[in-house]
Amino acid sequence: MTELLDLDTALERLLGSLEPLSDCRSLPIALAHDYYLARAQSAVTAVPPFANSALDGYAVASSDPLLLRGDALAVSQRILAGSAPGPALAPGYCARIFTGAPLPEGADAIIAQEESSLRDDGRVQFENLPGAGAFVRRRGGDVEAGQPIAAAGNRLDAARLALLVAAGIEQVQVHPRPRVAIVTTGDELCAPGEPLGAGQIHDSNAVMLAALARDSGADVMMVEHARDDPESLRQVLEAATAADAILCSGGVSVGEADYVRDVLAQAGEVSFWRLALKPGKPFAYGLFRGRPLFGLPGNPVSSLVTFLLLVRPALQRLAGARNIEAPARFPATLAAACAKQPGRRDFQRGEYAISREGRIEVTANARQDSNILSALATGNCLIDLPRTQGDLEVGEQVWILPLRGFGR
Ligand code: AMP
Ligand code: MG
Repeated sequence: MTELLDLDTALERLLGSLEPLSDCRSLPIALAHDYYLARAQSAVTAVPPFANSALDGYAVASSDPLLLRGDALAVSQRILAGSAPGPALAPGYCARIFTGAPLPEGADAIIAQEESSLRDDGRVQFENLPGAGAFVRRRGGDVEAGQPIAAAGNRLDAARLALLVAAGIEQVQVHPRPRVAIVTTGDELCAPGEPLGAGQIHDSNAVMLAALARDSGADVMMVEHARDDPESLRQVLEAATAADAILCSGGVSVGEADYVRDVLAQAGEVSFWRLALKPGKPFAYGLFRGRPLFGLPGNPVSSLVTFLLLVRPALQRLAGARNIEAPARFPATLAAACAKQPGRRDFQRGEYAISREGRIEVTANARQDSNILSALATGNCLIDLPRTQGDLEVGEQVWILPLRGFGR
């Protein structure tokens, strides 16, 4: 009997064995959403590229003697966003200006239109004197030209994309998305919607794992089923080596029809098998003909939980992530007692809510068997209970991982 491996050790080994896919490519920024940068990026242009107004109002020289005396100023020009400024401001003049429009030479402050009144003679009277720089967005005030704005391994999410575009970048060098093959094993499985024969169940893992893989930034290139015999499994896995990673569900436990580990051992190497984890003890990881193969438990809840904890970070690494963020976690108070046997680290399915006093309160679902899909679908978090932990009382503190915290 092999010893049960700790989750953190398993994750460390797994990530240590994987490199970002090296077949990098250059993409137009508009197509680069959710890819990971292969190279650091610096700003090509300053952001903003020119001094401009943060308000609709009037551009003035804050040191203009007439302005300092409290006199009204004549309006010399009108500058809209997208237009070039006219001539430099002469003393005694201001410029009508709108948000995003460039400041004319000589102007160094903006006065809001709400604090200005246009008189019948066409001059503008201001209520307050502006300080130099008031409501001016200076050139380079956000980012200077040449400043580093993204590192290799950064994911191109909406905010990062906006920053890169603003800084003048049009093409980015990115890692490819990992292509995954999904292989489900089990003679009892039949396709979604098919009438069930004797002893059959619908294959829910194929669709679930495909959704999880896509949520993790991978492309699903193949979904196949293998029968519970080593030859069938070998053949399907051979075909699956066209992918960058293989997700194999079921057949990884100690039953007589569980061949994944044997087949993996014959055509590659088993890096580890069996975790001190509940759900998710029967989890195997290794290389099948050089391809990372994740042997996920067949029980749907175990499959989903081990995917989130181990496969998702692995796919992110292949996709180019350098520092892999742990899923978000929060301290919460148990709103009901919770049964736990010492031995394995539990990720119990639970539901949390924020109390009127602002406390996060969580209740573990009464049904913690690893085949109970409904507890996952209705729950909103996993409750992370340490290996040595025993039963817990109402009011005890626990860590929760919101299930939405795993999404992108
Ligand atoms: P296994 O890991 O192959 O021993 O399967 C454990 C349990 O999960 C059994 O009850 C299987 O019927 C079930 N199971 C295996 N694969 C799937 C699947 N793809 N979809 C739904 N349930 C499955
Ligand atoms: Mg099976």
